[in-house]
Amino acid sequence: MRGQHKGSELAYTVDQLKNKKNLVDVAIVGSGPAGWSSAVYAARFGYYTLVLAGPVPGGQLTKTSFIENWPGEHKIKGSLLVHNIAEQARMFGANVLQDTVTKIDTSAWPFELTTEQGHVIHAQSVIIATGATPRRLGIPGEQEYWGNGVSTCAVCDAPFFKDKVVVVAGGGDSAAEEAMQLAAHVKQVILVVRKSQMRASHIMRQHLEKTSNITVRYNLEIERVVGDEQGVTAVELRNNKTHELSEQQCSGVFIAIGHDPNSELVKGKVDLLPSGHIICYDGTRQTSVPGIFAAGDVEDHRYRQAGSGAGRGIEAAIDADRFLREVGLTQEVRQNMTKQGGYFEQGVTAHVEIPEIKTPEEFTEKTGSAGFTLVDFFSYDCGPCMTMMPAMEAAAAKYTRQINFYKVDVVKAPELVMKLQVPHVPYVLIYKDGVRVAILNRALGRAELFEQLEQIIK
Ligand code: NDP
Repeated sequence: MRGQHKGSELAYTVDQLKNKKNLVDVAIVGSGPAGWSSAVYAARFGYYTLVLAGPVPGGQLTKTSFIENWPGEHKIKGSLLVHNIAEQARMFGANVLQDTVTKIDTSAWPFELTTEQGHVIHAQSVIIATGATPRRLGIPGEQEYWGNGVSTCAVCDAPFFKDKVVVVAGGGDSAAEEAMQLAAHVKQVILVVRKSQMRASHIMRQHLEKTSNITVRYNLEIERVVGDEQGVTAVELRNNKTHELSEQQCSGVFIAIGHDPNSELVKGKVDLLPSGHIICYDGTRQTSVPGIFAAGDVEDHRYRQAGSGAGRGIEAAIDADRFLREVGLTQEVRQNMTKQGGYFEQGVTAHVEIPEIKTPEEFTEKTGSAGFTLVDFFSYDCGPCMTMMPAMEAAAAKYTRQINFYKVDVVKAPELVMKLQVPHVPYVLIYKDGVRVAILNRALGRAELFEQLEQIIK
């Protein structure tokens, strides 16, 4: 459809793209499984696709442990899974910008996206895949044992607590569901509810009552998560009526006190549920503004799985394709825009595969050569490493003439790790003419990494 799009006040004609700069066909805001899966499809359709990675590249998956419920993968680290989807999308030509969208102007088409680093991008279609943030209790020990006994995902982690005692915090449907999922694996579930009754639906409460290894305890608040180097060992509880303190031994703590969809960016621009979730219409991923789509936890308050998020990302890309074709964004129009240099280029990371070093011999040879050599020790098991990897790839693209970049997967190179006494990952060694000149021993964001590299090569 050309001209005014059905159900919208906005005019959508390809003439409006003339003389516009920094255009993208499909802008994907967010880089979790929904965002990257939509990128696989959009890029494969041949659209200029830009993923704006956001503040947590990879999303919630980079903060979980192993995933055992992704169809076709028996067991895979969350961060590796999302890395693989990203690789596939980039192979099809998707571009990524390690930046965060701070504003979307939906008052005219193409939509205008402004980023933290000051880019202004014009997008013919936008897929919002910003995910959700699980609420946390904010108590001592919660952060310390995160991923090591403390979790927000029973579906993902329940099998790791076979025959153990676990505590679930919360009183809504999510907490009831988490408890039910856990009960099928663990010895006992203690559901800790802060009020004298649960908010969960009647049917869910009935399910809980019928499950023999679930105990619901009321008027209790978790004060502290206790543990040792193996993980969680107990929680400290306070009865908010009697103020009595007690300790409950357990191996896991599942926090199910709700999620907050990350929809702030589009609040007041597209229709939202009272919970903040974006509303999609007619069984599609179309929001109330034609050309703006939503996928994953930011719009899904029911399933909230990595796999379902990926599916919804795919749907969003198919819907975006249909929309772009209706608007008249033909191959010819896109070729003209390319000729006029209308497409967005600044800061976009070309796909750079950093070569891997596996042996001490290779390491000595590469780091001994003239000029600057950087070696990034990482592991797919390490969330911060995988969060830093896109920044490292962006650096490899930017400093391609000044620095030789290599990476070492510590799991695959134990001999080298032992020889160099690599204390932890991420760990980055930088050499000049065979002499070590710098060590970066923590995860750095893109801006920080670039700043450090600038200083070193000066
Ligand atoms: P809810 O907002 O419904 O419930 C959150 C629960 O967590 C409440 O019981 C709340 O307690 C408790 N809570 C909040 N903060 C704290 C805290 N700091 N300490 C202890 N407890 C706390 O969120 P849900 O994720 O459970 O559900 C969200 C929506 O999704 C609901 O509409 C629900 O019906 C739906 N849903 C549906 C499912 C299904 O149909 N199968 C499954 C899961 C969710 P309090 O009551 O005291 O405020």
